[in-house]
Amino acid sequence: MARLTPPAIVILGAGALETARRIQMLYAGCQVHALQGRVEADVSYTELRTHLCDLYARGTPIIALCAAGIVIRCVAPLLSNKGVEPPVLAVAEDGSAVVPLLGGLAGVNVMAREIAAALNVSPAITTSGELRFGTCVLNPPEGYALADIAQGKRFVSDLLAGESTRIEGEAPWLDDAQLPRSESARLAIRVTPRAWDGRDDELVIHPRSVVAAVTVPGAGAGVGAHSNTDTDLGTNSGADSQTASGARIAALVHEALGAHGLAPLSLAALLVPSEHMANPALVDAAASLNVPLRFAQAGPEDGEPPSNLLHAALRVPYQTLHDDADAGVALALAALAIDPDTIGRTRGRLTVIGLGPGSADLMVPAARTALNEATDILGYETYVKMAGPLRADQRVHGTDNREEMQRARHAFELASTGRSVVMVSSGDPGVFAMAAAVLEALEEGASTNADWRSVQLAIVPGVSAAMATAAQAGAPLGHDFCMLSLSDNLKPWTIIEKRLRHAAEADLVMAFYNPISRARPWQLDKALDIVREYRAAATKVVLGRDIGRPGSTLRTITLGELRSSDVDMRTMVIVGSSTTRAFANGVDGGEWVYTPRWYE
Ligand code: SAH
Repeated sequence: MARLTPPAIVILGAGALETARRIQMLYAGCQVHALQGRVEADVSYTELRTHLCDLYARGTPIIALCAAGIVIRCVAPLLSNKGVEPPVLAVAEDGSAVVPLLGGLAGVNVMAREIAAALNVSPAITTSGELRFGTCVLNPPEGYALADIAQGKRFVSDLLAGESTRIEGEAPWLDDAQLPRSESARLAIRVTPRAWDGRDDELVIHPRSVVAAVTVPGAGAGVGAHSNTDTDLGTNSGADSQTASGARIAALVHEALGAHGLAPLSLAALLVPSEHMANPALVDAAASLNVPLRFAQAGPEDGEPPSNLLHAALRVPYQTLHDDADAGVALALAALAIDPDTIGRTRGRLTVIGLGPGSADLMVPAARTALNEATDILGYETYVKMAGPLRADQRVHGTDNREEMQRARHAFELASTGRSVVMVSSGDPGVFAMAAAVLEALEEGASTNADWRSVQLAIVPGVSAAMATAAQAGAPLGHDFCMLSLSDNLKPWTIIEKRLRHAAEADLVMAFYNPISRARPWQLDKALDIVREYRAAATKVVLGRDIGRPGSTLRTITLGELRSSDVDMRTMVIVGSSTTRAFANGVDGGEWVYTPRWYE
């Protein structure tokens, strides 16, 4: 199941930081967003209104440590659609008041209670149903889904008007609710996987207690017992036929559910044979059914019923409701909601991310999402630390081991058992970093480790050191440029010299990565000698050290002035071209450096 997005705690000044940190401890992966220039926290923003609207539009729960009125005014233009809003709360910056504002159906009152308990105050709950019954009847726990929100609201207003209700089925979360209950009541809360028939004296809640197993022989796009390898699936089927096939599988499941009067919202997961792990049609089908996709090993052999998959994957007692070998669909019905994480296994993932140069606000959101979803995090120890805060349940395989291939193979081994692995690099993972090592490991290892191929591999880009340094200096990479690593660990020095000559001669701006280290003391001087054969001593050079990290420095000098002692392994060296220029920026004798877009 997709985990809930961690909330963003938004503060305006230093006075709120302590309260923010206390709230932060309640939510895994949660970050404190602070107004730039006023206070430093995990993420900085420049304008409150824009930032709150951004978070709201992305569905991120918001805990704003400021006046409720400010929050309301900021998000007001976005408030038309009540169905999909995230929880929004205002909390007094000294922690003395917790006010749930929006997101009643997304659990805002639950959050308000949690935060208030941590701050030792009473939450300002104003929802009538919740006040009266001690719980939000319309917000059942994970694993249950309300059949119809409009009917739900009518039902609760009937209860508030004085009616009582029966409860039919298992609703353990309502045990402690102060609901007016009566066995002879006209109204009923019915917890059932059966579809709601539209009666308005019922509040129907579906437990996610049904699992659909699908083998789908002959569904096209290679789905089914006679399919080929994953590679064939990818090449033989165009995007259209995959989409059609995904839709067809979803339709078959809907038909089977319909035949038994089951509600689609009762579905807990779509279960398919492990050998189809990389099949996009199944991903489409699960997405269209809005359930997680799970896999079971071995499953049915050719011609065997899909119910064998259920047998292989389910760890709770269930009843087989439907077993159609021709259509390749079987349904299991359990007595209670089933946690999809316990059904068969999931497809393992390996996501290679770049953290950017260092500060959290220069990490792309997709990398943060991958980190939030990770079960295992691998990488060089310094970077793994930079990737935090991590949750206690996330396994960190930090190492100062520089053996990158070994780390890459380890990542595939973990991911092929179904874990969600994130490999961290600094900057961009594809620039002198782990992405290439990961692909090398895959190409070498896939033939001997067949299950590595079914790992869902993704590479998330990041802000590379050259970009981050350039942005601080101005726009030195504004025209043609190249990136060179001066490390001769993995390539001969002669190649480096040759490339330097060609790049210098071509008048490219050059960004030097790995410019110098204790083990490589003379190489930078040699490189600069070569560049000086082609470039004037007045050529602009930008040195960025620890950009985006504490204690960062940025210097602009000339090629003539540059000494290798100005540079260490945490420095990015950008050597300008013949057109790179600079002018005073008006701050402490600093300057803007840029390379014009035109060329003569
Ligand atoms: N993948 C990284 C580069 C790794 S190579 C990226 O895209 O940025 C490591 C080299 O990158 C260092 O020797 C240094 O030259 C440069 N570098 C990495 N982070 C830096 C930072 N925060 N400030 C300046 N240079 C940095």
